[in-house]
Amino acid sequence: LVDIRGVSKSYAGHDVLHDVNLTVQPGEVVAILGPSGSGKSTLLRTINHLESVDRGWVTVDGELIGYEQRGDRLFELKEREILKRRTNVGVVFQNFNLFPHLTAAENIAVAPVALGRLGKADARELALGLLAKVGLADKPDAYPRQLSGGQQQRVAIARALALQPKVLLFDEPTSALDPELVGEVLDVIRDLAKLGTTLIIVTHEIGFAREVADRIVFIDAGHILEVGPPERVFGSPKHPRTREFLGRVL
Ligand code: ATP
Ligand code: MG
Repeated sequence: LVDIRGVSKSYAGHDVLHDVNLTVQPGEVVAILGPSGSGKSTLLRTINHLESVDRGWVTVDGELIGYEQRGDRLFELKEREILKRRTNVGVVFQNFNLFPHLTAAENIAVAPVALGRLGKADARELALGLLAKVGLADKPDAYPRQLSGGQQQRVAIARALALQPKVLLFDEPTSALDPELVGEVLDVIRDLAKLGTTLIIVTHEIGFAREVADRIVFIDAGHILEVGPPERVFGSPKHPRTREFLGRVL
């Protein structure tokens, strides 16, 4: 479903991603682990072209992200086209990024309406359904500032689901939360995993990664050093850097 081929990226001569290859199957849950600054967020951001790439390409459901091919070269798409293709990829960030002046339901309904997919009434209906799905059926008219961090993040997840993306990306979805609020957000992600949603999750929650992920990706200094099922990666990491990292965080 998601195909990342030979992706490299550098900032001012400093390699952030180095020849990254990763294929994610439909329904698969992939957790990306690695030290701070290893390129996890950058990799995630290339999957919906919030970040351009210097080499390589990404496809989602067979469609090139951010670029079109002419002859044997890739050309960056116009913003409108990028936005259209980006709807296949939902993203949930660390800091929720809800629109502060919109209610929970409005935050969810705004994109389907703006894209002309739904009328206002249908979008509100959809929003109410998604809020129920994330355990917030009683909060449609609350503004972000009236919600806890965990509730805001659950609204952000519902918003990401509103365009029915083929894959959902999470960048440390719980690391801005007070510890007692982490569980409610992980519960929602766990439910999505059980329903067969394709998920790519950057997380420092090692226990959670171990529990929900079909595969663990370990990235260090822009290189994918290890990919495998959690039992294998946690049980017998092949690479010394993985062992060292796990030794520190487990
Ligand atoms: P963390 O766990 O702290 O979130 P990360 O693995 O997500 O780290 P990235 O945010 O992908 O790491 O950053 C990888 C490297 O790229 C870092 O060295 C960072 O300083 C650098 N970097 C990221 N974005 C930019 C940018 N816009 N301009 C210059 N350098 C950048
Ligand atoms: Mg990051």
